[in-house]
Amino acid sequence: MSKLEGKVAVVTGASKGIGAGIAKALAKEGSAVVVNYASSREGADAVVAAIASAGGRAVAVRGDVSKASEAQGVIDAAVKEFGRLDVLVNNSGIYEFAAIEDVTEAHYRRQFDINVLGMLLTTQAAVKHLGEGGSIVNISSAITHVNTPSAAAYAGTKGAVNAISGVLANELAPRKIRVNMVSPGFVVTEGTHTAGVVGSDMETGLVAMTPLGRAGHPDDIAGVVTFLASDDARWLTGENITASGGIR
Ligand code: NAP
Repeated sequence: MSKLEGKVAVVTGASKGIGAGIAKALAKEGSAVVVNYASSREGADAVVAAIASAGGRAVAVRGDVSKASEAQGVIDAAVKEFGRLDVLVNNSGIYEFAAIEDVTEAHYRRQFDINVLGMLLTTQAAVKHLGEGGSIVNISSAITHVNTPSAAAYAGTKGAVNAISGVLANELAPRKIRVNMVSPGFVVTEGTHTAGVVGSDMETGLVAMTPLGRAGHPDDIAGVVTFLASDDARWLTGENITASGGIR
């Protein structure tokens, strides 16, 4: 039997990049999937179509996770469409690089609103529906140990993700809901293209630092998330798996 047969998952920010890879991987293991997006309707529809053509079940649901009512709407859509909720993957995230002299209030707030508040609001909405055996996987970043220059605010958001995930692992353990993290290293995605990392000196430097000697791909992360979502990881909570080709 597939690892996630009969389960229902929400993946935030699944219209592209790592989230799209995670949504497809969870569906391949039998889960019905809510493919959340904020602005890329076409991307989300393409992910849903790919899942459907492989025989899976998925629906695209718009919602800005940094707004409480919209985060709630994304979770409600899972229960309305598929009748339950078992897995939440908090993947939505943005990254902007700025030297300390160029950090602004808006740069700080945009990243903390989506990466941290968005995770809190979506989790808050989800825990009303997650029962015993529920699994939350938060996408953090290896940047918390690599300490990349010009990433102070972004790395700060992921440090907060780690701290919050640890607290929630303990807080939700009595309800048998597990909370774990995956910290990717550099991954080639639409986002890292747009941020100008792909093809830059930063990419060359990151690959040179990677013991396994290449950039990551969304599938490299998706398999780890699928494991944490599944019963194979039933004894893991509060863990942070660095999926980075060995960068630490
Ligand atoms: P990406 O290609 O830019 O995709 C980001 C996704 O987040 C998109 O689906 C986007 O939706 C969604 N999103 C953005 N703002 C949102 C909001 N307010 N509400 C809901 N969804 C929102 O990014 P990625 O590179 O795949 O990164 C995904 C996650 O991995 C992030 O948390 C990132 O910090 C983390 N990460 C990435 C890397 C890397 O090297 N790529 C490394 C470590 C960690 P729309 O397109 O619809 O707006």
